[in-house]
Formats: sequence, C-alpha cells, structure tokens
Amino acid sequence: MRKKIVAGNWKMNKTFEESKALMNELKEKLGKETSEKVETVVCPPFLCVPSANEIFQGTNIRFGGQNIHFKDDGAYTGEISASMLKAIGCDYVILGHSERRQYFHETNHLINFKVLKALEKGLKPILCVGETLEQREQGVEKKIVDEQVTLCLKDVCAADMENVVIAYEPVWAIGTGKTATPEQAEEMHVGIRKSLENLYNATVAGRTRILYGGSMNDKNAKDLLGKNNIDGGLIGGAALKADSFIAIIEAAV
Ligand code: PEP
Repeated sequence: MRKKIVAGNWKMNKTFEESKALMNELKEKLGKETSEKVETVVCPPFLCVPSANEIFQGTNIRFGGQNIHFKDDGAYTGEISASMLKAIGCDYVILGHSERRQYFHETNHLINFKVLKALEKGLKPILCVGETLEQREQGVEKKIVDEQVTLCLKDVCAADMENVVIAYEPVWAIGTGKTATPEQAEEMHVGIRKSLENLYNATVAGRTRILYGGSMNDKNAKDLLGKNNIDGGLIGGAALKADSFIAIIEAAV
C-alpha cells in the first residue's frame, strides 16, 4: 500500500515573513488525522527552510528544498548542497523540475548526478518528469518520459528506490490552469511503472510513489487522486494558500 504524498512547491514566491505566516497557518489548520494519513511536504524557497524546521517541529509536516548542486561543496557561487539541506532538517528535494530544465538548461544527465547526490546525503528526491505540448502533439510523450526516467535514475540501485518519489508533470499543464485528465495522467503513471519494472523489477515498480503535478487544485484533486496509480500531487499555485493546499491534502485521504 503506497501512502499518498501531497507536496507544495512554492517556487520563487513568498518573503521570509509571508512564508512564516503560511507555514503557521498550515500547521494550525491541517488536522492531525489527515496529516497522519497523507504525507504532507512543503518546499519553500531556501531562505525560508530554517523557518520550516522551527515551525513544523513536532508535526507530521515534512519539508524540503527545490534544488541542490550535484557536488558536495566548494566554489559554486549561489548554489546549495544536499548536506546543507539535510543539516537543516529537510527530508525531500525537488529535482529536475521542468522550470529548471527550461530556464536553467538542466539535462537528464545533470539531474541524474543530483539524484545520486541527494540519495547519498539522505535526502529523498522528488524527481520530476514530463513532456512538452509539442512532444505530446507529436505522439512521443511516452518515449520522452521513459527516457527521462531511465536517464535520471542511472546507477540508482533498487534499494535506494525506496527513497525516490517520481512526479509526472506534463509541462503544458504547469501553471497554465490546463490539467491532464485523470485518464491521461493515469495512462502515463502506468507507463512510468512499466519503465520502473524494466529498469528494476515489479516490486520496485509497485511500491514507488508517483505523483501528478500540473494545475492540480481543490476542484480537480479528488478525480485525479482517485486513480489507482496516482499516489499524490506536486502542487504549485494552489500550495500558496493554506485553504486550497489543505483541501487537496484532504482529497488524498
Ligand atoms: C509545479 O510547479 O510543480 C506545479 C505543478 O505547478 P502548478 O500546480 O502551479 O501547475
């Protein structure tokens, strides 16, 4: 039985004070029973991660970063290491988000290094994959996602897969208000499980949690999360308000 995860990706939003206010609101409003049933993860900007460590102490709310560098440490101006995130209490890190692929030219090869470094340092990667609109229109979406999964997980052993979460995020659905239908998402999630079965075995494929991301909100969450192979959501815009984020978490119960 895969425990569902709902993770909020705050991206480059919220000042220090605004972050603290939203974290406190989440802590106050999220029911204990709900947070026991659904793994809740918040990924704020780096600057606000220490606040998450303080505010979420003693709760079931987990937190993480939105990126790491693939090296341990050194002369990499502006970067954050896996060890730094781990030391401040992070459990998770989002890797390979389409915005990082698009605006920061991250390749599957680079993302693979980051996945390996995260696992080595005890962080759980939320590995994002997904096709562009053009690729879907060309009918190559399954091939693209299979390639992303395969290349980004190179050299990740079956035992480490227990700590990897995959997020299927069709690029055309992120921040656009255009959601994949539950059927489209389910079909791709089944495809990702097939890729995992080819790479590892049926056990790994069956226990890996695969989230859907792309304009998930309090209205469409129930239908998406009702599908057999959708194990939660990676939420952008709707994670910036406590009430809508909590409504999605509740839909995952
Ligand atoms: C995301 O950025 O991971 C995301 C899914 O964003 P949104 O929910 O805003 O589409």
